Amino acid sequence: MAYRKTKIICTIGPATNTLDKIRQLAEAGMNIARINMSHGDQKGHLEVIKRIKSFNKTAAIPIAILLDTQGPEIRTGDVIEDFTLKVGDTIEIQAGLEHPESKSVITVNYRDMLKDLKAGDRVTLDNGIINLEVIEKTEFGLMCRVVDGGIIKSRRHINLPGIRVNLPSITAKDVQDIMFGVKNDVDFIALSFVRTAGDVEECKRMVERYNGHAQVIAKIEDAQAVQNYKDIIAVAHGIMVARGDLGVEVPIEELPIIQRRVVKECALQGKRVIVATHLLESMIENPIPTRAEVTDVANAAYEEVDSVMLSGETAAGKYPIKAVDTLDRILKRIEASGGIGWSRDFKSDEVKAALAESAVELADHLKTEAIVVFTRRGLTADFVTAYHPRYATVFAFTNMSQVRRKLLLNRACYPYRIDFSSDPEKTIKTAFALLLKKKLLSAGSKVVIVSDIIAGSERVESIQVRTL
Ligand code: PGA
Ligand code: MN
Repeated sequence: MAYRKTKIICTIGPATNTLDKIRQLAEAGMNIARINMSHGDQKGHLEVIKRIKSFNKTAAIPIAILLDTQGPEIRTGDVIEDFTLKVGDTIEIQAGLEHPESKSVITVNYRDMLKDLKAGDRVTLDNGIINLEVIEKTEFGLMCRVVDGGIIKSRRHINLPGIRVNLPSITAKDVQDIMFGVKNDVDFIALSFVRTAGDVEECKRMVERYNGHAQVIAKIEDAQAVQNYKDIIAVAHGIMVARGDLGVEVPIEELPIIQRRVVKECALQGKRVIVATHLLESMIENPIPTRAEVTDVANAAYEEVDSVMLSGETAAGKYPIKAVDTLDRILKRIEASGGIGWSRDFKSDEVKAALAESAVELADHLKTEAIVVFTRRGLTADFVTAYHPRYATVFAFTNMSQVRRKLLLNRACYPYRIDFSSDPEKTIKTAFALLLKKKLLSAGSKVVIVSDIIAGSERVESIQVRTL
């Protein structure tokens, strides 16, 4: 049986927020559900979280939950009615006003925009579709010339490429949302617009302070994060290459270079990595993807990322289930043709990492179908999956449900929860029985095991080769 190595994250939205749709997404291949705090309110998100948890109660494989913060995002305010901007038009942006005074001005929620920008700077709306150039400052705002036109609607996303936005990295709303996530036991917090390693550390401290266990994923989505990516990777559990904003914040031709550099560095540091946004964008409207999208998904699989993420495709698209099914098919096919192998250069001084490296080498050499790893906090399983076994699926056994869910993000990792016995041999037997009962592996399969054994009066870590 071929187990898909690359995991699938689906953003839940109006197209998929029912229990029935969540079940269908899971059956099609979703491993993690993403709750996007840029939209909706906590009350609505809580309903979705409850539905996922109720699905998990009866599901053979649970779905982990990733809460994505809004971050220091600038948005337009409400417009009295939608209006069209044409190339060459002038338009005033007013900062700090809640409501526009006339039909043809844009308001923004960011007061300092007047201070930060000067004539010649660029303002981008709707992820790059509408572009304005600042001509001059006015009494309440900025007069701009329209470079690329379009329709102005309420509450649109604004980027100020190259400008250091004077908003805290973790906003007051983010703090509330992180608390909400921890209280409701989400598995991952994706921190938007991370600028420095310190931002990640602050978020980790917050999670700890509220006694949460969520892992922090740093979203790389602007020039400052790109500058600091190595330090950010070092402190984060994982990284999201957030190509939506990144594609506006840096010259777009830099995007593939940055993706490659960040994914490679994650492999070298043994960290998780997610590639996000526009993977199957055209499937929001169409039942089939474009050829370029198929190739983009294939590229992520070839780069051996842990997970890929769908946004609008599953949140608001016409074909959410088909999009997951399409991802599943492309990923499996490409994984069978081999990957780039950067993870072989991951070096760590930790004994557990050295053991993991040896176990993966052994599994690759013997071409075993599986590596079976026993892991309490998930550390050993993290290391084993970080070495990207070439053929083997990693079956991770833990005694904690939250560790099981966190491992759903890891490449090629299929985690299960069992009770651990004081005798490691009994624990191995329990795991084998489960693998056979659930038909995950068949009798006669050769596996590499990473487990404690009792040696005299001591527990020591071991690598074994056994047949099921
Ligand atoms: P967003 O982040 O969807 O929250 O903007 C992802 C991205 O920018 O690619
Ligand atoms: Mn973003």
